Amino acid sequence: MRQPLVAGNWKMNGSAESIERLLDGIKGSLDTVEKAEVVVCPPFVYLSDVRRQLTGSSVALGAQNVSEHPSGAYTGEIAASMLLDFQCRYVIVGHSERRSLFGESDSQVAAKFAAARAAGIRPILCVGEVLEEREQGITEKVVVRQLDAVIEEVGVEALADGVIAYEPVWAIGTGKTASPEQAQEVHAFIRGRIAERSADTAGQVRILYGGSVKAANAEALFAMPDIDGGLIGGASLDAEEFISICRAAV
Ligand code: PEP
Repeated sequence: MRQPLVAGNWKMNGSAESIERLLDGIKGSLDTVEKAEVVVCPPFVYLSDVRRQLTGSSVALGAQNVSEHPSGAYTGEIAASMLLDFQCRYVIVGHSERRSLFGESDSQVAAKFAAARAAGIRPILCVGEVLEEREQGITEKVVVRQLDAVIEEVGVEALADGVIAYEPVWAIGTGKTASPEQAQEVHAFIRGRIAERSADTAGQVRILYGGSVKAANAEALFAMPDIDGGLIGGASLDAEEFISICRAAV
């Protein structure tokens, strides 16, 4: 059985004060979450504060990005070993904002997956098509390209050390959610594609949905057989909304 996972991607939002309030809210209602593993991914500079505030709680810490390099002259970058120093258990790699705004290529994302995994951190690998690609009917082709780059780098079995997040780019931060059926179709495709190479890995790997998930649509999305939870952007900044989403993961 795959334990559902709900991860909050706070992106570049918050302040020391607002984050403390958000975490108080999350921790205060955590006992109402029955099944989901809960992860929060704050901006790098708050990792230390958040780690301290999460002491004794079951909420896991994640980061939003990682360098593919182990150390060296890479100004502004953060290595996987550094994230481990802050007890990060997860790190998002290949978020569509990193791919589109910062030019991260499939091979760079694959190298980031490998670097995180080598440090013992679970990468949350984001894949997904932009609107034009969906309209052209090439969603599966895009997702295969993004996934295969990682499989070529680390091998198919290594996917089980991470998490996949299917995030149709047209649904991120737009309020347009993929319908549960649309999302399930792509999730089943991804799992099937992995199963062609390793049935065990396909059975183990958690595939999250991301893209305008809210308390109001989470239950229907998470009820789909191949959707194992969610990667949540905007709604993860509101403790009550985020906890309701976590509760919906069964
Ligand atoms: C995201 O950025 O990963 C995301 C899913 O954002 P939102 O929930 O705001 O669409």
